[in-house]
Amino acid sequence: MTGDVPFVDFSAHVGAMRSEIDQAVARVLDSGWFILGPEVEALEHELAAAFGAREAVTVANGTEALQLALAVRGVGPGDEVITTSLSAAFTALAIQAVGARPVFVDVDPLTLNLDPKEAARAVTARTKAVVPVHLYGHPADMDPILALGRQADLAVVEDACQAHGARYRGRPVGTLAGDDGLGALSFYPTKNLGALGDGGALLVGDAGIAARLRQLRNGGQTDRYRHGTPGINSRLDELQAAILRVSLRHLPEWTERRRAIAAFYGETLQDAGLGLPREQGYARSVHHLFVVRHGQRDALATALRQRGIGTLIHYPIPLHLQPAFAPLGGSPGDLPVVEKAAGEILSLPLYPEMTDAQTERVVAAVRAAVGPLSASA
Ligand SMILES: *Cc1c(COP(=O)(O)O)cnc(C)c1O
Repeated sequence: MTGDVPFVDFSAHVGAMRSEIDQAVARVLDSGWFILGPEVEALEHELAAAFGAREAVTVANGTEALQLALAVRGVGPGDEVITTSLSAAFTALAIQAVGARPVFVDVDPLTLNLDPKEAARAVTARTKAVVPVHLYGHPADMDPILALGRQADLAVVEDACQAHGARYRGRPVGTLAGDDGLGALSFYPTKNLGALGDGGALLVGDAGIAARLRQLRNGGQTDRYRHGTPGINSRLDELQAAILRVSLRHLPEWTERRRAIAAFYGETLQDAGLGLPREQGYARSVHHLFVVRHGQRDALATALRQRGIGTLIHYPIPLHLQPAFAPLGGSPGDLPVVEKAAGEILSLPLYPEMTDAQTERVVAAVRAAVGPLSASA
């Protein structure tokens, strides 16, 4: 139907860059070099410059970026790693991949990001690291988290997989720990900076650590066929790197468009009777997702679907209640803020290729859908 607004629209996304992508792919095919070559090297320089990091190290996906960041900090079996219960499960799977135990804590009710006070309360003698997530593209409140890291001697690994280019007090996320900085980016296709396949990177504050990470992602090789340390295979390929170099050039304009759409939603839905995300004073959000809240979320999603508007829920099940993490012993009632939020959150369509007509259609549909719900609540 012509009036429909899908949750994402890859044909519009790829269509707008098609000739640039074709050229980039042709360049790699002509080069005859497909793994760890000039495209990856150039992309790493361009990522570091774009995101204000000392170095960037590309890897196969965001999950392994987190895993390798923890590994390079020496986090392993028997260690505890504090993280938020409201994230992609991959955040916690990366913690488990190094043999450590995720410790899930509750979120700040305003931003739905890791609550620094709850993180501090969760520290034990076994805690080795904390992984804040800049959820939905909005930075977590990092000053208290960095202070906790210094005070309790914890590695701080930023999960910036949803927050490419977001800023906290003027500084780019992923670099906030300075020389100790490790920030994970995902290039999953739906992310603000997406590959046409899987990809990821680490923003790194120290050249020596970056060099170690380049070994770890390539099987731990210190020289060709000499494996100095047990690494993994987590290489970004040249085709994806070449495509990402095209996308990276467009990211600033995409981010501006995301921010403009978020501002439009924020103004036009202000009095619509639902909870709206609010950019905090310390934050410059890149609006990976626009997540509203409503007590009758499922009915709202159904009404929007009937009006042709695609929505998703990020995320319906808090991590401490996921079946995969049941052995960690979480149970309902443990983390009340995240549990309440999980029943109320709904992500509206927000992507750079949306037309003004589409954003207006979303607003009209939300207003029309919320009205009857409030009346019957
Ligand atoms: C996407 C995402 C990941 C995982 O990234 P992949 O590239 O899919 O492995 C981790 N954490 C968060 C918050 C994400 O959004």
